[in-house]
Amino acid sequence: MNQLQLQKAKFQMLSQHLMQRGITDGRVLNAMTQVPREEFVPNHLIEFSYQDSPLPIGFEQTISQPFVVALMCQLLNLTGQETVLDVGTGSGYQAAVLSKLAKNVITVEIIPDLAKNARKIFKKLNYKNIHVYTSDANKGYPKFAPYDAIKSAAATPKIPLAWINQLKDNGVIVTPKSTNFSQDLIRLVKKGNNLVEEKWGDVRFVPLVKAKS
Ligand code: SAH
Repeated sequence: MNQLQLQKAKFQMLSQHLMQRGITDGRVLNAMTQVPREEFVPNHLIEFSYQDSPLPIGFEQTISQPFVVALMCQLLNLTGQETVLDVGTGSGYQAAVLSKLAKNVITVEIIPDLAKNARKIFKKLNYKNIHVYTSDANKGYPKFAPYDAIKSAAATPKIPLAWINQLKDNGVIVTPKSTNFSQDLIRLVKKGNNLVEEKWGDVRFVPLVKAKS
């Protein structure tokens, strides 16, 4: 697939899968335009880079579906001034989109090889405001807390307390939450000691795993 075909596929993704399905935030659409998803998918799947589906990236993990990446970013309401914690770096694609929307992105991945690979891509693309750490994100990432926003690409039945503690007041968490048979995309806003929760539909993410200790 050549550059022209990739660009065409990207614009099709923007209009058919994002704009027509409710992605209206101009900053998010702009970020999705800027980030080359083909850099984050395995070579043999490049022709599917702008298809609206997750794709395997090895280690039984996937790069998230473009619509869901855009929706999660839109739900965070970022202005460009924020420090965001991105849970589950995976390919690095969502962190890359976030880096165009916030001041700094701290992204945490439990599988060292994925973290290493994402770091390599960010270097190649000269994305300087993303910092990748290999760690179990059940603990959040205390070093740079408090965060304006936390976004997770791994589903959990219960939001880790560390995320709530590491979030600023009025901060936002967007994450898949697993129930017995499905997952809901949820947005939580921290208001003092309360959490205001909204549901944003069904999603499918890999589970947030716990590090073996
Ligand atoms: N947004 C990513 C999607 C990655 S899939 C992308 O666009 O590519 C979710 C990732 O979460 C996987 O890479 C998985 O290894 C990671 N993960 C699962 N549990 C984790 C944990 N406890 N801490 C950190 N990362 C975790």
